This record gives sequence, C-alpha cells and structure tokens, in this order.
Amino acid sequence: MTVKALKLLLVSTPIGFLGSGQGGGVELTLISLVKGLLELGHEVVLIAPNGSELPKECEGVEIRYVSGFDQPSWQHQDYGSPVIIPANGVLPMLWEKALDVGKEDFDAILNFGYDWLPLWLTPHVEPRLFHLISMGAVSKVIKDQIMKLSKTQHSRLAFHTHVQASDYELSDTPTVVGNGFDLNQYKFQSKSDGPLGWAGRVAPEKGLEDAVAVAAHFDDTLLVWGLIEDENYARTIEESYPPGTIDWRGFLKTNEFQDQLGKCRALINTPKWNEAYGNVVVEALACGVPVVAYKRGGPGELIQSGSTGWLVAPDDLDALISATYRVNEIDRLKCRNWAIDSASSKGFAKRITSWVQKDIME
Ligand code: UDP
Repeated sequence: MTVKALKLLLVSTPIGFLGSGQGGGVELTLISLVKGLLELGHEVVLIAPNGSELPKECEGVEIRYVSGFDQPSWQHQDYGSPVIIPANGVLPMLWEKALDVGKEDFDAILNFGYDWLPLWLTPHVEPRLFHLISMGAVSKVIKDQIMKLSKTQHSRLAFHTHVQASDYELSDTPTVVGNGFDLNQYKFQSKSDGPLGWAGRVAPEKGLEDAVAVAAHFDDTLLVWGLIEDENYARTIEESYPPGTIDWRGFLKTNEFQDQLGKCRALINTPKWNEAYGNVVVEALACGVPVVAYKRGGPGELIQSGSTGWLVAPDDLDALISATYRVNEIDRLKCRNWAIDSASSKGFAKRITSWVQKDIME
C-alpha cells in the first residue's frame, strides 16, 4: 500500500518528561518513531510534559508543552485500582491540548500513554485517536476499556507484540507493530569476552535479582544500567549478595549506554511480568550482544533461541545459568543483523503509518 504523507499529532506519556527515564521504553519508542516518520516525509507535532527534549536529529519537530503532576504508574498499582487523576494532573492537560490542537488539519492523533482517559475519549471526539498500547494488562479498568474499544473501533488499537496483545480479549486479530530503533546509534562490537549486563527500570516487575544471582554464580560483576525506580528493592538485592556483585552504572544517554552495553558478553533479561516488548533486548542485539532471557512476554517473541541468544523457562534460575555458559555459541553478527532486519526506526514508522492509513481509508 502506498502511504501518502500524513500530518500526525503525537501525545507523550503522562509519566515524567521525555529524557527523564521515568516513562521507561515509551520514551525511546516515541523518539525512534519521530525519526522514522521524518525520514519518510511525514509531518509531526508532539505534545509532551514540560522539560521534554528530542535529540537533535528530530530538529524541526514542534513540541507543544503542558505542565501538571504525573500520573501514578499503573504497573505499581493493584490490578483492581481505580483511575486516580491528581489535581493539576498532566494527563488531562495533555488531552485538553491534544483535542484543541487536533482540530487543526491533522490526519490522526497517536497516543503513547497507557491510561484510561484517552481510551475512553476515543468514540466521543471528532479527531481520530489511535493508541499504541505499551503494556500488558496490568490494570482491570484499562483492560476493560481496551476490550470495549476493540468491539467498536478495533482498528484504533495496536500492540508491540502478539504475546502482549494476548493479554486482552480482543474482538479481532490485533495489529502488531513491533518497535523500532535508530540503528546508526548502536555500534556493532565483536568482542565476546566482556562482562555480563542487565538493563531496565530497577523495579520488581523487571526481576533484577535473578540476573544478579547469575552473576554471583559466575563470581562475576553484573553491570546494571537504568533508572532506580524502587530504592528499597534495589537495596534489598544489593544487600543479598557479596559487595561488588552489582556495578550500578546509572541511567545513561543512548550513546554512552550502547557503548558500554556493546562490550558485554551477554545481556541477562529476567522479566517477571508480561513485558510488552523489551527495548533493551533489541538494543543489546543491535550492538551484537546475545541475550539470555526468560521466555516470557516480548523477549520470548523477539529472541531466537540458539541464534540471537537463549530462551529458558520463566523463573528457572538453573536454566538461566546453564544458558549463560553457552553465550559464546552465538554469532554476534547474527544478533546485529536481526535488529537491522526486524527493528529499524524506518520499518517501525512504516508499520505505524500503514496502520493509521488503513483506518483512514476504511
Ligand atoms: N535506558 C536508557 N539508559 C540506560 C538504561 C536504559 O536510556 O542507562 C532505556 C532503554 O533505552 C530503554 C528503556 O530504558 O528504552 C527501558 O525500556 P524497556 O522496554 O526495556 O522496559 P520498560 O522500562 O519500558 O519496562
């Protein structure tokens, strides 16, 4: 299908500003998509919380800023929790602005926040709202809203992976768009005798403790990159192992992150939830680093066991350790090539625009 140039309004996550790391993988997803859309000649305007920044390659994209308090993140609330919007919340501010700006001649408004309000708004407003769902079903109220929308406007929903979409009982086959990365930013590194690494938000659903257990087994140090979201959780893990087992590297900009990550012999990925995608898995592969992971959520769909890393049964620590012994059997170039073939920002932007275009033409 040929895709005409689209004019798209993108709405960022109501958690943190772009560049803070609080938005998790959504931040990089949004930035990669903007790059891919620009490369394809589409026009983009972004609505985002104050302080948000786009890298210089996205110059020319207009950002309309809004202020307000963050939403509490859904992955840290009970499944049955109600929707809570704080006074002066940034979520309604984002959507007031989006609906106002969206009256201009935009083809579509694309939502990147995992929240109830934009889903609920969809059938009630004139602009066409599309939702790239960024998590599995971590909240009943959101799951119900997604399923309700699927009954009437299924084509407005897209997911990162099939396994993520399977969390929702949808009325039709899901649109699965994967994800995309500016692969020029990730340098291939061929040396395979480096340390073990782990990356992600440091929070219980990411299962850092199991990766530390692997490093401890090898009497090795685990390099850890990412925002420490839960200090108590981080401290408890640290105190459970000999000093020096974890080397906290902090939350780095992509350029520095990929340079350090690329020196690893493997990335250990240990999700405890139905991870929607797993950006760090693909970032490691893009540098040529094999990934040893639990076969759960997105990583279970992305990694080709025996070719780009090893997948083992979820929560099976012994299997994780055994697989880590075998990372040298993986050809690092195959990892890089998989990322080029399956997860470029341009390919991702093409999948997103076909999804939108298909709905517009219906
Ligand atoms: N990340 C980063 N710098 C770091 C460590 C991580 O920018 O030092 C980013 C990484 O690029 C990825 C995100 O943090 O985009 C984590 O996303 P992922 O999809 O792995 O998990 P999520 O946080 O969305 O659950």
